[in-house]
Amino acid sequence: MNYGAKRAVTHLLRRHRRRQFPRFGLQRCSSTFDKREWSTPLAKTLAEAIKTTGPISIAAFMRQCLTSPQGGYYTTRNSGGTEVFGKKGDFITSPEITQVFGELVGVWTVAEWMAQGRRRSGVELIEMGPGRGTLMDDLLRTIRNFKSFASSIEAIYLVEASPALRDIQKRLLCGDAAPMEETEIGHKSVNRHIGVPVIWVEDIRLLPHNEDKTPFIFAHEFFDALPIHAFQSVAPSLESQQPREIMTPNGPTTLHQPRKHSNTPQWRELMVSLNPEAAVENKKDAPEFKLTLAKASTPSSLVIPEISERYKALKSLPGSTIEISPESRIYAAEFARRIGGGPSQVTTGTAAAPGSRAAPKVPVRRTPSGAALILDYGSASTIPVNSLRGIRQHAKVPPLSFPGQVDVSADVDFTALAEAAIEASEGVEVHGPVEQGDFLLSMGIAERTEQLLKSVKDEERRKNMESGWKRLVEKGGGGMGKIYKALAIIPENGGRRRPVGFGGSIVP
Ligand code: SAH
Repeated sequence: MNYGAKRAVTHLLRRHRRRQFPRFGLQRCSSTFDKREWSTPLAKTLAEAIKTTGPISIAAFMRQCLTSPQGGYYTTRNSGGTEVFGKKGDFITSPEITQVFGELVGVWTVAEWMAQGRRRSGVELIEMGPGRGTLMDDLLRTIRNFKSFASSIEAIYLVEASPALRDIQKRLLCGDAAPMEETEIGHKSVNRHIGVPVIWVEDIRLLPHNEDKTPFIFAHEFFDALPIHAFQSVAPSLESQQPREIMTPNGPTTLHQPRKHSNTPQWRELMVSLNPEAAVENKKDAPEFKLTLAKASTPSSLVIPEISERYKALKSLPGSTIEISPESRIYAAEFARRIGGGPSQVTTGTAAAPGSRAAPKVPVRRTPSGAALILDYGSASTIPVNSLRGIRQHAKVPPLSFPGQVDVSADVDFTALAEAAIEASEGVEVHGPVEQGDFLLSMGIAERTEQLLKSVKDEERRKNMESGWKRLVEKGGGGMGKIYKALAIIPENGGRRRPVGFGGSIVP
């Protein structure tokens, strides 16, 4: 993409972010709205929006709660000292529990690079939603020891929606003294470990697309933060099964043709609506928002559940509920295209209509290269159901409460990610998902921790390291070894080579 196009995309994305949710500050409000003390400023904005335009999708609600520039959880919570991660924050993630996690992701990357023939240049490290930057920092500390791999790295790209977290990542990865520049696509500084540029963008679509590069893409606890839609299959109504009567000049006439679509189950979207007890009666402790089933089909319910046979199969069973994250599928597809080739999602304004002769050609990579490692919690093969959750100060809370102050997330549908990746590029294959416990044990978490412990004298640190690695692999109790999974996207090789941690061994 040239600079003009990049500027246009940046501008469009910013406008899109602002527009996705109009501000309703000037809307005339009923007295209840004026009187009510909403749980958060964002709750009031959302309530006014719903009152004006009707119920909104869970996806729209999640997006606002997590990344709205006005009061979103990630976008505003880390400023002013309100922490998201760690003991004092709302939740703790694996890289924050033990440094060995990031180190092993580093070892995985080096092993994959070796197996792909040790390219001497053009390697890019790309991380989605790096949080405090801990995983990337531990990974780079490890990679620094593999000189020829380290010297093949050209740039580190971080896709981060939160300006506050971007600052925290910059301090860790580049140091306080390193200057931070604003660029056409985002921000830029230099890494303190390996001296290469670190480039921040707010959206994956802003990343440069160059088919000669070898991208290694990491997404740890990123997909669970992407918005979901939820749908329920409803039986055809009895009324719609009756023959229809219409009034004609000669009296009522019965229509014998069945109504289109009327006698098969239909998907209806679960929407976030206002709870009248809060919004109308102004009851103090009543929940402000609740989920209700849309009364009719919406554009989303007509289109989204039709994108995969997995969803279609459940439509005929009234009562089935499914959660779908179209955005997650877009990201997985983009990872696959960057590794295996295929068109970029971004078109630069002059793209011809599909099917016309001037339609842009699909860039096919000469040699697929790079890999993606996705680590998150969710289901291996089943479609997530009722998985929307809220976390605040390490406790579960209702996901629609305190918008912007609660971390809202949903289970990751790993099969959907695999499906999207394979459909997007013929140049990739997918391995996993495997359970995190198995992945980390086969990567050597026990041995690495034991080795580290030899030089640690401090008793408290020793205890944390010992309990930390166990927590990541244990499959029962509060362990993260089973519910968390790992999925890898690698260049297509006819299934002959498995990546390490997914049944493969290190290729020397
Ligand atoms: N990977 C980190 C942080 C996980 S929390 C860790 O494991 O510790 C989710 C991260 O994704 C945060 O950095 C958040 O700001 C970022 N994020 C959430 N939604 C995003 C979006 N739509 N685009 C870019 N970044 C996003």
